[in-house]
Amino acid sequence: MVKQPTSPTLIWLRQQAPLKPEVGQACNGCGVCCAAEPCPVALVFLWQRRGSCRALLWDQASSAYRCGMLVQPAQYLRWLPLCWQAWFARRVRRWIAAGVGCDSSAHIE
Ligand code: SF4
Ligand code: SF4
Repeated sequence: MVKQPTSPTLIWLRQQAPLKPEVGQACNGCGVCCAAEPCPVALVFLWQRRGSCRALLWDQASSAYRCGMLVQPAQYLRWLPLCWQAWFARRVRRWIAAGVGCDSSAHIE
């Protein structure tokens, strides 16, 4: 079967960001997936349906992107008490399957 390319999307990422790995390899924080479209967590909690996720954070120290909903969710969710942040972040980690490996089939040109 011939793979049909999906419509192209222009995304903006930092020059220092790592190159996107192949699907299944360890996530390196390239930011491609989150810059291309919001994940279900962003859809549900940030009400964002398209565009680069507003919770996508650039981490200067590691020269990689991080999920703000994982790092500091209370900054995006005003209703979330600071003392619940760690609990919520653990849920987000599971929902976005952080650490499982890259699940984005995006092709970068
Ligand atoms: S899941 Fe893949 S595309 Fe998304 S940030 Fe990690 S390595 Fe990049
Ligand atoms: S909520 Fe986090 S994982 Fe989901 S698109 Fe935004 S930055 Fe990426």
